[in-house]
Amino acid sequence: MLGKFVIKGIIEVKTGLRIGGSTTGLKIGGVDLNVITDPEGKPYIPGSSLKGKMRSLMEHKFNKVREDGKVHYCTNDENYKNCPICKIWGISPTEKDMNINIPIHTRMLVRDIPLDESSVKNFKLELQYTEIKVENVINRKKGCAESPRQIERVPAGAKFGSTNGEPIEMIIYTVYENDDIDLFKYVFEAMELLEHDYLGGMGSRGYGKVEFKNIKIYWNKKENYESGKLNEKEINNGFHTPSEIVKNFENIKVNIDIK
Ligand SMILES: [Zn+2]
Repeated sequence: MLGKFVIKGIIEVKTGLRIGGSTTGLKIGGVDLNVITDPEGKPYIPGSSLKGKMRSLMEHKFNKVREDGKVHYCTNDENYKNCPICKIWGISPTEKDMNINIPIHTRMLVRDIPLDESSVKNFKLELQYTEIKVENVINRKKGCAESPRQIERVPAGAKFGSTNGEPIEMIIYTVYENDDIDLFKYVFEAMELLEHDYLGGMGSRGYGKVEFKNIKIYWNKKENYESGKLNEKEINNGFHTPSEIVKNFENIKVNIDIK
């Protein structure tokens, strides 16, 4: 290991966000589809949802979408060495047809991202943190709406990943070899692609547009951990959105002291 990046940042919901909760348990307030919440009933974005969506968008970008629709993974050393997706997002050790003999590392991990309660406290909502939207299906023959469903969603304007507006830790990216610094740029490319796609469910109905705001990147090399002197200064040169960071990545790279 050479070091780690910590990315802090805020995810702002631009159109109602629906990441589904468990269907077991009680229906709350007559809602048919609930959003996922923590044990205190507060919505959050599971790290696995965000990470998986970013991976899938990058699989499309690199033309690595499998015929069967399952997650892409490389099966030999040569492909793995040249595959940003498997190197950044990882490969499950249980994949059976894998014949990779060089070390496999997952470089990126994504935290569960809590809702910033202060971002919704002045909203008029049906439930404490969420709104209820009724979705109809139009009967093609009769031309009328039928089987309306009550859908819970996090309202536009809500923010995740901050406490009272201050960004908190969202992503950790571990650098194992020098080339991993260049691969790090793909994390922000995946964020750009997500901003032009959707997070959670019902994207084709307009749900799930999000934006990343106030991104802060911190770098610590191995020696920082050994001495306990962790850097508290961001290295992103005042570039706080995914597209600004991608555009100025070479400029930001100068701040990464790896030796
Ligand atoms: Zn791969």
